Amino acid sequence: MFLPLFLVTFLLSGGQGTPVRSRPEYQTDDYYTYEEIQNYLKGLAESYSNQVKLTNVGKSYENRNLTTITISNGDGRKDKKVIFIDAGFHAREWLTHTAALNIIDKLVVSFEENKHLLQDYDWVILPLVNPDGYTYSRSGNKFTNEIIDCLFAYTKDLAVKCWRKNREPNKHGCIGTDLNRNFGHGWGKGDSSSDPCQPTYKGLSEFSASESQAVRRVLLDLANTGRCVLYLSIHSALGEILYPWGSEEIKAENYKEHEEVVQAGIDAIANGNFQFPSTYKQGPSHSLYVTGGCSSDYAYEAGFPLSLIWELPEERGNLTFEFHPPTNLIGELVEETWIGIRAIAEKVMDKY
Ligand SMILES: [Zn+2]
Repeated sequence: MFLPLFLVTFLLSGGQGTPVRSRPEYQTDDYYTYEEIQNYLKGLAESYSNQVKLTNVGKSYENRNLTTITISNGDGRKDKKVIFIDAGFHAREWLTHTAALNIIDKLVVSFEENKHLLQDYDWVILPLVNPDGYTYSRSGNKFTNEIIDCLFAYTKDLAVKCWRKNREPNKHGCIGTDLNRNFGHGWGKGDSSSDPCQPTYKGLSEFSASESQAVRRVLLDLANTGRCVLYLSIHSALGEILYPWGSEEIKAENYKEHEEVVQAGIDAIANGNFQFPSTYKQGPSHSLYVTGGCSSDYAYEAGFPLSLIWELPEERGNLTFEFHPPTNLIGELVEETWIGIRAIAEKVMDKY
């Protein structure tokens, strides 16, 4: 039997006149797979079509889509400033993708409490830069919350879980380019290898990897609009927030602005309601080691006035977990990250 159309509409709308949204499930019980990330993004685009737009900005070497989500408040204004966030350059940095998805969830699903962050800004987020490497790093034995020290990844399974690069084959049988050594600023300098078998292999040439080309396209497209303000690239696991330069031992010209906005994030996390809040440090990225070919230096040079590397923590309380936090910590770690990033965004919006 067919229901009259008005009754169907009424039932679907819950009787309130507002369509019931089939909200895609965001979860922090376990790490997302590539497919789950893509499905989550697609679900948001269907449920929140007025606020969300997906763009395939390129393909990985193994032909997986690299997908950005552009989030607005739906008011149609085209002249807003932009915050661009990416995550997952390095395959083994499993927490970074959920940290990015949590930001998306806050801005889209929890829009009401965060709408001030979309008043004059759009956010563009690429939650998974390196889907091939990540998928490979998840292809070993099921993760059972064991503590993994990647300096001693001597078994095949640990080597898989500690994989860092993309999956493009090189000569001599070694696989992968370090995508965060492949950018065209200071390429080949410092902590960057010419040996295709090393984890920090810089690639055959600047932007030789399709994944770094895709990020470059997004960065340059945004820089060309003149609307770009903040680039933030989520990595792990050092517990530090870093600003340019990485390829030279000098600080960015506006390092004081960088330090001011970063300190807002560090303070917000310290004052958050966590039993063991992360105590982030900050500094220029060369303070860690000089590194050429990084996306953050490239973004800064391309025209983003603020460019940050967010290194998620490697420990909680007395537990050190490096790149693979136990799954029961995913939720609070990404929530803490959001509190820091929200505070940084608010400070940025005050100043820019
Ligand atoms: Zn990294």
